[in-house]
Amino acid sequence: MSSQTSFFKSVENYVDKAAAYTDIPRGLVEQIKACNLVLQIRFPVRIGNDYEVIEAYRVQHSHHRMPTKGGIRYAESVDQDEVMALAALMTYKCALVDVPFGGAKGGIKINPAKYTTEQLQNITRRYTAELVKKNFIGPGIDVPAPDYGTGPREMAWILDTYQALRHGEVDSIGCVTGKPVTQNGIRGRAEATGRGVYYGLRECVSHEGDMKKIGLTTGMAGKTMVVQGLGNVGSNTALISQQEGDVKIIGISEREGSIYSANGINVEKLLAFRKDTGSIIGFPGTEHIGDAQAALEIACDILVPAALENQITSANADRIKAKIIAEAANGPVSADADPILLKKGIVILPDFYINAGGVTVSYFEWLKNLSHHRFGRLENRFQHNAFERIVTKVEEMTGKSISDREHEFLTRGGTEIELVNSGLEDTMITAYQQIRETFLQHPDIHDVRTAAFVCSLKKIAGDYISMGIFP
Ligand code: GLU
Repeated sequence: MSSQTSFFKSVENYVDKAAAYTDIPRGLVEQIKACNLVLQIRFPVRIGNDYEVIEAYRVQHSHHRMPTKGGIRYAESVDQDEVMALAALMTYKCALVDVPFGGAKGGIKINPAKYTTEQLQNITRRYTAELVKKNFIGPGIDVPAPDYGTGPREMAWILDTYQALRHGEVDSIGCVTGKPVTQNGIRGRAEATGRGVYYGLRECVSHEGDMKKIGLTTGMAGKTMVVQGLGNVGSNTALISQQEGDVKIIGISEREGSIYSANGINVEKLLAFRKDTGSIIGFPGTEHIGDAQAALEIACDILVPAALENQITSANADRIKAKIIAEAANGPVSADADPILLKKGIVILPDFYINAGGVTVSYFEWLKNLSHHRFGRLENRFQHNAFERIVTKVEEMTGKSISDREHEFLTRGGTEIELVNSGLEDTMITAYQQIRETFLQHPDIHDVRTAAFVCSLKKIAGDYISMGIFP
């Protein structure tokens, strides 16, 4: 966390900047910005022959919609300010993509690499028990999910602990999302954030006029991309952009350093190489160009910071040579770097839009959990039979028959993964269109972040006003 501006304060500053373009009453803006509930926890965990005091948080930023929603991160950077800022971003993120939740976030101040699986399980279970004790978790209260340093395994531990303490609660499986598919999770959640980044970018680069302004043509194919961080979000963004969008990945960075190749890097092979060797350095056909920050400065069309916050600051903003920055991580561009980048004409797709795919599919998982059935289960066969009848009729009427492969393709009902991905695609496209409409309504707004905050603020304010709390 940069010492100059607190992360939470910088989110507040962005909101204030956007609020000036709306007629939302000042008091309501203050209410929207405020963190509604902050839980600070200290608990002991036995490590070897001793105990360690663990510092943890859960923040519910906004109760204008319930439950509240947001991930839990395990990182040494965790402190109250960081968790508050991330919880606030969740509120604006959910509103932007029409996910009907308030924002929340949790954090445990640990480096997970320093603990055994058993110790991590103890920490996770104890943290969950604290949340249950304080009524800070539940399918209608607050629903955690994965974030930096956590994944489906931790979510399964959370679910199991919750169910042990809340035995018999009919909707208990909806108390957490991002669970393994075999334990009431949903297909497509693991790659959802990266897939959402891809859909958002693809929509952004599809507008000819917008692309012309930054010297780019439309379409993803052939665009150069640099990705910082090969965690869940970075690796899926790179993989999907390369495999589905024909994007050329020319630079990648991880903890151990940055690599570059003007000819493009095969992401699938690189991930296998890192699994074997523990590093991206030395991957055939690439050049080692410096530390983890070095890749950020490569000239490219699209830069995807997908690690932690404050990676692009006033210290390196001047040297960024990308045309578009997609904030796949939360807060990777510091508040003081933002105006420097905008002045250079760089388009910044803000975190609370471009990484909203994760919470969108979390919402689908929660809906699946509350409905207690898999999407497509009821309608799949019915759709197949209906399509079958149409195709047969067309064949009869035209006297022409189609191949078995085409037949199979035309008559298939939607599977869970197809329904999830199409819902995600639609969500990212719709939200981008709403942001563009805001630009058209406010020609004096010049950056996507402000336009996106205006969209979110208007929706949240609308909720408060319809509750009758504000006139
Ligand atoms: N941690 C993710 C985020 O920052 C996902 C949150 C969720 O699925 O609830 O958006």
